[in-house]
Amino acid sequence: MTTIASNLQATRTAIADAATACGRAPQAVELLAVSKTFPADAVREAYDAGQCRFGENYVQEGKDKIAALQGLQIEWHFIGPIQSNKTRLIAEHFDWVHGIERLKIAERLSAQRPAHLPPLQVCLQVNVSGEASKSGVPLEQAEALARGIAALPNLSLRGLMAIPAPTDDVAEQRAAFAQLRELFDKLNRDGLQLDTLSMGMSHDFPAAIAEGATMVRIGTAIFGVRSKSPA
Ligand SMILES: *Cc1c(COP(=O)(O)O)cnc(C)c1O
Repeated sequence: MTTIASNLQATRTAIADAATACGRAPQAVELLAVSKTFPADAVREAYDAGQCRFGENYVQEGKDKIAALQGLQIEWHFIGPIQSNKTRLIAEHFDWVHGIERLKIAERLSAQRPAHLPPLQVCLQVNVSGEASKSGVPLEQAEALARGIAALPNLSLRGLMAIPAPTDDVAEQRAAFAQLRELFDKLNRDGLQLDTLSMGMSHDFPAAIAEGATMVRIGTAIFGVRSKSPA
């Protein structure tokens, strides 16, 4: 077995263990393999080991990998920060976008989504760490933004995403993820039909799963430590 295949297997086991430990079904948590900075060959290796959902942070790099792996049944997620001059490429090439924090960006993505493709599946990024994080919409503005996004024709609002400030303290990890889950529950009570809670990375996914994550975004534990970050 290759290193990526065995890392993937270990990650799947750890996800299933974390789910089972809190009484959730292992299938209730999807794995998004974050392949940023790793070559198309690494993605193919993970794909051959049964992984079909990949996350990329850089538009050009992601677009190149999508082209290199055309023909494989891969679902591509854009999870990086979104600049307005990059929305067209994202709308044309990706299946999902996790980092929407402004209505203007959502409007551009909807307007630029090609008519022959299904709606772009999107998550709203929420700032659950207050001052400690600059990205994501503040909790109290999230519902208004969610309603704005839900009204756009070529986007399908699936849920919420967060990247809490990193900490080794599991109680702090859980407190941040709980904020996102509480918002998710509130928006669903208010009539938005959300099914995706995108939270948890290599260092904190067990806490995210304990707080209800339905999709964990894991890079390092599968592909190894990143040595470079292309612009
Ligand atoms: C890089 C990245 C990840 C994966 O992080 P790891 O610590 O390598 O698991 C997850 N989510 C986002 C938004 C990222 O940018």
